[in-house]
Amino acid sequence: MSGRLRGKRCLITAAGAGIGRESALACAREGALVLATDIDAQALASLAAESGSIQTQVLDVTRPEDIDAFVSAQCAFDVLFNCAGYVHQGSILDCDRDAWRRSFAINVDAMYSLCRAVLPGMLAQGRGSIINMSSVASSIKGVPNRFAYSTTKAAVIGLSKAIAADFVTQGVRCNAICPGTIKTPSLSERVAALGGDQEAVWKSFIERQPMGRLGDPKEIAALVVYLASDESSFTTGQTHIIDGGWSN
Ligand code: NAD
Repeated sequence: MSGRLRGKRCLITAAGAGIGRESALACAREGALVLATDIDAQALASLAAESGSIQTQVLDVTRPEDIDAFVSAQCAFDVLFNCAGYVHQGSILDCDRDAWRRSFAINVDAMYSLCRAVLPGMLAQGRGSIINMSSVASSIKGVPNRFAYSTTKAAVIGLSKAIAADFVTQGVRCNAICPGTIKTPSLSERVAALGGDQEAVWKSFIERQPMGRLGDPKEIAALVVYLASDESSFTTGQTHIIDGGWSN
């Protein structure tokens, strides 16, 4: 541990698996006190067992009243990493109103609720870093069969830029991160759900990567640590693409 986040209080959503989990561990290793949240209590328990600097709380990001109650019972946070997200696969013709609404509820509405709940504490202490999970599949790159996902992840970029502009003089920074394809448990589940020749599906994911491999959640966690830390103190309102050159 080199203490890059020493003393910082970090709130992370969807910390039970994948990118959120690796980010919670990476922030804790750098000296942060991490409040890791997720809907999966078992996953949170195993995360807490890995680090004494990680506290956990079951929190469903689609329940604004739970978010408000939880945040108002806490001291101010220095860092908010909105990691929770939902991938609906398909074109506009596959996306019925329920899928559309669910995509916005998890990917955008939840971020609105969390930013609104956490911002007053950050403003009162005159410092804070908000990191919002977008994706390369957004306003950056048109990706087939990611209609609702890309629409919502583009909204995340707008939301992040607007917050950054509104609070730039008050010590609060807000950035979006845009990963390419990252090997996480949820990606494995999506591949399984597609059915058919699994090896061929993985090959198709890997073949679209110029580096010839998928990203590792640890590589995204490293960017999260940087944006959470004071090393990025002159950086706000940006979309940070981290995709192995996919969108290049
Ligand atoms: P993921 O999408 O599988 O999410 C992991 C965790 O989210 C799980 O522990 C799950 O319990 C939790 N979760 C699900 N619904 C929740 C809810 N309503 N409230 C709280 N927690 C909930 O993991 P991932 O693949 O690491 O993705 C994390 C984020 O990164 C998402 O926003 C995703 O869109 C984004 N992203 C992922 C990739 C990728 O290739 N994996 C690429 C770009 C962006």
